[in-house]
Amino acid sequence: MRYSGWRVIREALTGHKGWGPVWRDPDPQPAYDYVIVGGGGHGLATAYYLAKEFRQARIAVLEKGYLGGGNVGRNTTIIRSNYLLDGNEPFYEFSLKLWEGLEQDFNYNAMVSQRGIINLIHTDAQRDAFTRRGNAMILNGADAEMLDRDQVRAIYPFLDFDNARFPIKGALMQRRGGTVRHDAVAWGYARGADSRGVDLIQNCEVTGMRIEGGRILGVETTRGFIGAKKVGVAVAGNATPLLPIAGCAIPSKCTCIRP
Ligand SMILES: Cc1cc2nc3c(=O)[nH]c(=O)nc-3n(C[C@H](O)[C@H](O)[C@H](O)COP(=O)(O)OP(=O)(O)OC[C@H]3O[C@@H](n4cnc5c(N)ncnc54)[C@H](O)[C@@H]3O)c2cc1C
Repeated sequence: MRYSGWRVIREALTGHKGWGPVWRDPDPQPAYDYVIVGGGGHGLATAYYLAKEFRQARIAVLEKGYLGGGNVGRNTTIIRSNYLLDGNEPFYEFSLKLWEGLEQDFNYNAMVSQRGIINLIHTDAQRDAFTRRGNAMILNGADAEMLDRDQVRAIYPFLDFDNARFPIKGALMQRRGGTVRHDAVAWGYARGADSRGVDLIQNCEVTGMRIEGGRILGVETTRGFIGAKKVGVAVAGNATPLLPIAGCAIPSKCTCIRP
């Protein structure tokens, strides 16, 4: 089902009887080519791009609760690429470019709003740090502007610039930054993945991994064993208890693909 303005008008005039479930609720198959553990933004995006860009089939996302109910459903909603380090900035700039076309890509309103992001400067040392960061952003091809206090005042005339506990001396601004409803992003990826045949299996906690001779055979879950040729883990902080089961020694938060 494609969403559009016409569809909304048609449904409004016919009692909203034509909307179907946004994704299926399948039972797990005995085996898949790819099993992604974790139905947050990262797990669902992985499944979506595996199906869409890499044209892979037989993919399942296993989520112990409900889709988008992890960190992605409760964050601050900021999108930005205002980072200092060379390793970070291109990564986040690529992400920001993805945000800019994401809703059209998966035909779902994730409420992306590039209203701009401003980091206020309260001390001279902070101005030095933000100037350095702004220059790093520009050198990496992102947009960044240093604002003096009059420029900030022109945007926010109602702020107290002088008598506040932290006086405002300027700001680092990224106009292309903004906000997005991240749980809606998870649902958009879920809808896009489901429409490409990915099985999204909720209430299915992965409790173990079956490995023989160094190769993964599948995962043990609260809904039984599910075979898999490859297992991707995108469970945020839950990687710490989960990945040692698979014999992966990892930092506290990362994604691991085990062949
Ligand atoms: C308070 C806060 C504010 C943030 N602010 C921002 C922000 O403004 N902008 C921004 O871009 N990022 C922000 N982040 C970071 C961002 O939200 C996370 O990086 C992102 O949501 C992580 O996505 P994920 O898919 O890796 O993890 P999650 O969304 O946490 O998804 C992991 C999923 O794995 C499931 N899971 C765990 N263990 C298992 C298991 N054994 N079996 C099956 N499923 C399992 C969980 O139930 C969960 O649904 C913030 C994070 C927090 C906590």
